[in-house]
Amino acid sequence: MSYRNISKEALVGSLAVGVVFVAGYVLGKKKSFRMSISKSHTGGKDNPLMQYVLNHSLREHPVLKNLRLRTMQDSWNIMMVACEQAQFMANLAKLIQAKKALEIGVYTGYNTLNMALSLPEDGVVVACDISEEYTNIGKPFWKEAGVEHKIDLRIQPALQTLDELLSSGQAETFDFVFIDADKVNYDNYYEKSLLLLRKGGIIAIDNVLWGGRVLNPSPNDADTVAIDKLNKKLHRDIRVTLSMLTVGDGLTLAMKL
Ligand code: SAM
Ligand code: CA
Repeated sequence: MSYRNISKEALVGSLAVGVVFVAGYVLGKKKSFRMSISKSHTGGKDNPLMQYVLNHSLREHPVLKNLRLRTMQDSWNIMMVACEQAQFMANLAKLIQAKKALEIGVYTGYNTLNMALSLPEDGVVVACDISEEYTNIGKPFWKEAGVEHKIDLRIQPALQTLDELLSSGQAETFDFVFIDADKVNYDNYYEKSLLLLRKGGIIAIDNVLWGGRVLNPSPNDADTVAIDKLNKKLHRDIRVTLSMLTVGDGLTLAMKL
């Protein structure tokens, strides 16, 4: 069965975490494995083990699936978060009983919708992006899924939104943050997110392996340098607990102590 045809009964909600971890471990053992970790919408078709993971764990809400299929028609679809990673993050958010989430980098809003679906009725996702063009693709799906009231979209540079949240007294009120916008600002996003996060809240940072380029960052490649620098800083950062997962393009989880 192709992952595009996963049955309707399979709805968001249970734990795919173990399957994702096991697959990441097995894939990581393969010598021939590329530096970038395979993800569903780029690697699933050519990767039987990833296909197996999807067939046996993905529980994608039907509207979320439709947004994924719509996003696949966009020329920048590589930017979309992997669906199995999104499901994992939704499970994490549920695990910590998150009510307030922050999405830094929305694109077509796949993960924004994913988080909104996983939060309780009075939950909110503050969604930060600079592009009306991309986010307009997602809006009708947010509405169709009946969760648009949980999404507070702010179209302006994300740093400005984070500063506004801080100055309006929202420090230490967020439960979950996903950092996935421009890489050169990753450290700024991390520091401001840490202020916005409550103790026990989680920051998830995407693309921390950056297609393997972190192994040998070129000084002229500002994105790779920024990611590698943050990875090194986080390793020593005693303000958080830390895990760097080989899911997607690398996902760091930091829980605020
Ligand atoms: N998290 C998304 C998902 O679930 O599919 C993918 C985000 S995509 C990798 C990165 C997004 O960051 C793009 O939509 C881009 O417009 C946005 N972006 C780039 N620079 C930004 C900035 N300074 N402030 C806010 N958003 C920014
Ligand atoms: Ca990403």
